[in-house]
Amino acid sequence: MSSTYWSWETFFEALPIVLQGLGWTVGLTITCYLFALIFGFVWTFLRRVPNRTFHWVVTWVMEFIRSTPPLVQLFFIYYAWPMIPGIGVTLSPFASGVLGLGIHFSTYIGEIYRSGIEGVDKGQWEASRALNYSTLDKWRKIILPQALPPTIPMLGNYFIIMFKEVPLTSTIGVSGILLMANTYGAQNWAYLEPLTIVGMIFLVLSYPSAILIKKLEVKMNTRFDKKVKSDGRKREKRSSDVMSEPIVKYRDVHKSFGDTKVLKGINLDIHPAEKIAVIGPSGSGKTTIIRMLMTLEEPTSGDIIVDGTNLWKMEKNDKMVKANEKHLREVRGDIGMVFQHFNLFPHMTILENCMSAPIHVKKENKNEVRERAIQMLERVGLGDKLENYPSQLSGGQKQRVAMARALVMRPKIMLFDEVTSALDPELVGEVLEVIRDIAKNDDMAMVLVTHEMDFALDIADKVLFLDEGVIAEQGTASEVIEHSSNERLQSFLHRFRKV
Ligand code: ADP
Ligand code: MG
Repeated sequence: MSSTYWSWETFFEALPIVLQGLGWTVGLTITCYLFALIFGFVWTFLRRVPNRTFHWVVTWVMEFIRSTPPLVQLFFIYYAWPMIPGIGVTLSPFASGVLGLGIHFSTYIGEIYRSGIEGVDKGQWEASRALNYSTLDKWRKIILPQALPPTIPMLGNYFIIMFKEVPLTSTIGVSGILLMANTYGAQNWAYLEPLTIVGMIFLVLSYPSAILIKKLEVKMNTRFDKKVKSDGRKREKRSSDVMSEPIVKYRDVHKSFGDTKVLKGINLDIHPAEKIAVIGPSGSGKTTIIRMLMTLEEPTSGDIIVDGTNLWKMEKNDKMVKANEKHLREVRGDIGMVFQHFNLFPHMTILENCMSAPIHVKKENKNEVRERAIQMLERVGLGDKLENYPSQLSGGQKQRVAMARALVMRPKIMLFDEVTSALDPELVGEVLEVIRDIAKNDDMAMVLVTHEMDFALDIADKVLFLDEGVIAEQGTASEVIEHSSNERLQSFLHRFRKV
């Protein structure tokens, strides 16, 4: 029966025998892959635990697993582990294969997830916080849906790589195609034909997978990509009532970044329904003031009291300690924020952007939320864009969606951080008009960091001039903007008046 030349007879005799092992090989690959996909998340999240020692240990373990050959790991799990007294476990070849290759590849897959997560814009994390998502929902609804699609090509490649590594398990006795081919070869002294069959199987199975991955990649990228324009707006009226007890109090709030003292003792009251404009030179700390209220920055010292509750501190065993995430989440529930760079969720339609947080964060009824979201979007003039994706809108439209999204949450305090400064000049007007409408008709408190002096003058009850880390001047818009004698304020205003 032995032959040194190619023999079709041998080929066709070996074929069914080798194919018997195909089920094992494919089954093992898929099981290993699923294991690695899931276990990859474990590494990703373990690496995010904010403890230095823990982080170091996890990184070291991952490095160790990656830099030892998978064959050694397979041998260890299959042969050595059962012999360890106390913790020894005997696994089947298949289970050893899943565990050995699965763990090995999960370290690579964990890194792929990590790069996907790091690719998500910082603004998306901040917007999730501003909309008060729970940690779980933040990951499920906002971060992972954006982080994972770009990783699909890489993950797909790993399927093929694992498929090619799976034959290693023939060495521990998994009856895959390689073992079958070897067994046939040993019995008949003919290795060429059965091994050729193994090679062909790999070619036939890997190639279509590679094409499939390419297709998927293209599909993921074509969902958002047209430019649309439109306009038309609507209004609604609401009464406003002003109460006297402040809804937010800053008490001697300081903030440093490293050695740089940015805020040096901020005292500020925000009353319900009050509209406050914050002006001041670039770098004077305007953004930092409102980011601390949104819990995006932690004050270095001092207190911020929201509706009678200390935002950054909580009581524990009769002592005030640093607030935990749960406390922050409870206290910031009435605060909303609109960002300079919109931070819309790109994987959701305009309507979904506005509906997601009320449904998942506030657990409100879906139909009611939908109605309110549509109403808000109509109010900002985007009633005809409900099913569009953010990438299909102009900057001004995006910013109006961001406002609708914040408004649907019905905050008691809305923060606006230079919401027009990332816009083309011709789009600024439409956004200011919406803010003006909100300011005149809604009874929530608003804090606007702005460079639009005339606008501030028009809508603000109170204007703060921030300079060198303190509130250098405050009063009504006309007091501060038109009648102040503060020299630095004068020169600051002078620079703007020229424009
Ligand atoms: P403004 O909004 O008035 O322009 P910011 O509040 O953004 O000012 O910033 C005030 C100062 O704090 C600036 O000098 C800025 O460089 C610094 N700063 C702000 N955020 C950070 C940060 N995350 N790390 C280090 N420095 C920061
Ligand atoms: Mg700023």
